[in-house]
Amino acid sequence: MTDNEQTRDDVLVRAMACDKTVRIVIARTTGITEALRKANDAGPLGTIALGRVATAALLMSATLKDRQQVGVQINGDGPLGEVYAIADWTGRVRATVVDPHAQLQDGPATDLARGIGEGSFSVIKGLSEDAPYRGVVPLVTGGVAEDLAHYLLSSEQINSAVAIGELLTAEGVQASGGLFVQAMPGADDAQVSLLVERLETLPPIADCLSGGMTPKMIMDHLSDDSEVVSEGAVEFHCPCTREEFARRLCMLGEDELKKLTEELEVVDTECHFCRSIYSFDREQVNALIYGARMYDLAD
Ligand SMILES: [Zn+2]
Repeated sequence: MTDNEQTRDDVLVRAMACDKTVRIVIARTTGITEALRKANDAGPLGTIALGRVATAALLMSATLKDRQQVGVQINGDGPLGEVYAIADWTGRVRATVVDPHAQLQDGPATDLARGIGEGSFSVIKGLSEDAPYRGVVPLVTGGVAEDLAHYLLSSEQINSAVAIGELLTAEGVQASGGLFVQAMPGADDAQVSLLVERLETLPPIADCLSGGMTPKMIMDHLSDDSEVVSEGAVEFHCPCTREEFARRLCMLGEDELKKLTEELEVVDTECHFCRSIYSFDREQVNALIYGARMYDLAD
């Protein structure tokens, strides 16, 4: 299966309900989570971490303006290490985890909360990876959905119910997805409570999706008057290029690059999002030294 086929059905659907006072966003990310699993050769725990944080970033991307991107970063003290995803306004997402092969010593092998441990949950929003806006809250469970809801309430003052989950088998990712329901200003408390009650009677989101429910069917289950505002394909995509890695090598500076050419025949650099390797041989690194001088001069 090509990546295109894998992500063909992945979708992000935005809707309004309760007389346009409640926002509902649903993401189906089965192909994305499977693509992340394969790219990282991830074990079950690593796959769950990658899929959930990527889904959380995509849900958040539903509120972005043109050209913006949003990062969701989890820094825990568990065996997985940092988990990080970036989604952009077009629905493209990439994600990385420090140890995609992490395993728990005891207990259920797929207990994400223990894989992540205690730490912080951050959201970074803006025009680039060095975005100006960053909100940080302590992790509440490490399960991602509860942490995102906690972040939205305490950092953005938006009351939200969030569900994110996946269905894994030995063959790979069978289903993955998430949703959030957000009360906008002016929302009627009774209507919102009813919607949240219905959400609680819904089977886990991954079961809904693997059972054949479409995002629209899930929305209709939650609300009698949901109206789809937009629906767009989402995909795993890494925008990294060889030029970008060459530029990063230049930024090491002339002395550091000279040291590298003395020690190594070939300098390998790896993109931690898609695990692509970009190799530079001695001649190429020597050429980059001219570029490094420019950076050195700029300092
Ligand atoms: Zn990449």
